[in-house]
Amino acid sequence: MWKCKFKRLGLLVLLPSALAQGETLQNIRAYEAPDHTRVVLDTSASPKASIFVLSNPNRLVIDLANTRPAVGFDPDVSSAMGRRVKNIRWGAQARAYRVVLDLERPLKRKDFQLPPIAPYGHRLVIDLFDEQPAEPTPPTPTEPEGLRPVVIAIDAGHGGEDPGAIGANKVYEKRITLSIARKLAARFNDTPGYRAILVRTGDYYIPLRRRTQIAHRERAHLFLSIHADAFRNRSVSGASVYMLSERGADSEMARYLAEKENRSDLFGGVSDVSVDDMEPYLRQTLTDLSMQGKRRQSSEVGGEVLSQLDRVTKLHKKQVGHAGFVVLKAPDIPSLLIETGFISNPTEARRLNQAEHQGKIVDAIYRGVVNYWRDNPPPGTLLAQNAGGEMNYRIQRGDTLSGIAARYGTTVARIRQANGLAGNRIRVGQVLTIPADS
Ligand SMILES: [Zn+2]
Repeated sequence: MWKCKFKRLGLLVLLPSALAQGETLQNIRAYEAPDHTRVVLDTSASPKASIFVLSNPNRLVIDLANTRPAVGFDPDVSSAMGRRVKNIRWGAQARAYRVVLDLERPLKRKDFQLPPIAPYGHRLVIDLFDEQPAEPTPPTPTEPEGLRPVVIAIDAGHGGEDPGAIGANKVYEKRITLSIARKLAARFNDTPGYRAILVRTGDYYIPLRRRTQIAHRERAHLFLSIHADAFRNRSVSGASVYMLSERGADSEMARYLAEKENRSDLFGGVSDVSVDDMEPYLRQTLTDLSMQGKRRQSSEVGGEVLSQLDRVTKLHKKQVGHAGFVVLKAPDIPSLLIETGFISNPTEARRLNQAEHQGKIVDAIYRGVVNYWRDNPPPGTLLAQNAGGEMNYRIQRGDTLSGIAARYGTTVARIRQANGLAGNRIRVGQVLTIPADS
């Protein structure tokens, strides 16, 4: 009885001083990616955490010793609720501040701490992975069997933990890049003979080397990393296009941007799980000849894209720039980093945030790429087969002759003529000849 009283008294007396010396939990952030969900605890000092799993129902408990919530602590974690995490709760316990993740099912866990890097302080990162990785989405079967589409890997720069540049009026680079990347992917996916894949599909971070790995897995013919960076001088503006240089940057701006981009993994926090399964291709060395071929392709596509961008926006630089961007180090895929403008420039930040201007940038990149591949179709693709003459199209459910004619920029009459059709009747699976030069 006495003991108990003492304890309670002790707690009452000790609590205020413990609180005064304790650490604070400043924020909880969460990001859902296709293969994992990341929960980040921002703390005032390197956190002393005990993390354990409970079942029935499945939950992950994080106890932060000697910690209290910071003034104004009000996390918004709603964006990451869904496939893996049902709910995130928090509250004071006797000896710790407790954060509970209610899980949909048992998940694999990887946790690690990250040191401060502005704008973040100390971080405790918990990555929750599916026990069974999700099935990769099958390619859309719009091409005749045996012939591949030209595959464009579109990488929306930054994401999740890594906001990228933050411009005037709180314009976030990671949001601009995702918006432009999505529109660009849609343009290619609407084009027969092309397939776009989005390297990043939402607000989460992907390590730089993993981005090229995704492009490689999809056997991409081209890798485009989309950005909209900031510079200390707010008057600097204009779009630019860069390719990889192993020998160093060809301008001060190229060096500055490459250093900035390559710091992404410090914000994004790369756990060893994300990089320890690097595919051997990343270590392979290509012959000088094939390396030169890829470099020439990068340079030529880059030139086409720049000349199209020149029609819709100011250019920062008229030639394709060179620097040591880590994200461009896919040895066997021509790769470009496209700076769509500087969001440190208030006028450009406003325009880059507008759907109309984004659409113009998307059209320009699209036209540049399509112009290049039209003249240089990769072997084994539908585009190569069609380069000299007519195209084939396999009828999908829901297709109409007029719809197909519109997609290929031809007329119903010309399609009828090329296929000996009398009326409008077509059937799913039927292969139509689309006249050349239509
Ligand atoms: Zn960037």
